[in-house]
Amino acid sequence: MNVILLGPPGAGKGTQSDYLRDTYKLTKLSTGDMLREAVAKGSELGLEAKAIMAAGQLVPDNIMIKLIRNAIWGDNCPNGFILDGFPRTTAQAVALDKMLLEEEKKLDFVIELKVDDAALVERISGRFSCKQCGAGYHDKFRRRITEGVCDTCGSTEFVRREDDTAETVSKRLVAYHEMTAPLLPYYESAGLLRSVDGMADIAEVTAALNRIITNGKSDVA
Ligand code: AMP
Repeated sequence: MNVILLGPPGAGKGTQSDYLRDTYKLTKLSTGDMLREAVAKGSELGLEAKAIMAAGQLVPDNIMIKLIRNAIWGDNCPNGFILDGFPRTTAQAVALDKMLLEEEKKLDFVIELKVDDAALVERISGRFSCKQCGAGYHDKFRRRITEGVCDTCGSTEFVRREDDTAETVSKRLVAYHEMTAPLLPYYESAGLLRSVDGMADIAEVTAALNRIITNGKSDVA
């Protein structure tokens, strides 16, 4: 199964794609994570992407398309993939269609997490993750069981993303509405778009995703 999760920053794509990865044994391809890794390593890609990401803008299409082409090539995703953060522009979506055709693969669902812009700044500015295992948390919506200790690996070190500031979030939202939202009608006309209410609790969103995967229909209009 090959799935795309679409939605603005803070919609919950990361959390839900972790769930889909673990439950359906899919390969999770998060372009944001790939870029952050490249920045941390100081690779050529990282050096190119760092300032763009910090400014809340989009990394050029040709770089992103190459990254995804390598990731989905051949048997790299044996049970299929879940895309989180790609495609983000029409050019990326068209390139993805082309590479899937060449690879004789297809998309099963493009699932939109619908959220109100007003909620996103609060969601994003409260989030952080475990430095060791990457488990995601939120000051208000997803607290650790024991304060200061990672539920998953027991680490006591946590990090916040540099681009999760109120100022950068507004720029990322503008980029989403201008560049990424046009993908909704694109996938709608291909008959692939399904939508869930991303404002619901994490567990409810997960249940809605499972219903879509099981019976193929959207949960909300
Ligand atoms: P994310 O973790 O998905 O919110 O991505 C963080 C940042 O990485 C974005 O604000 C962009 O600067 C960059 N980025 C991630 N995926 C893409 C993409 N598909 N196209 C362009 N830029 C991207």
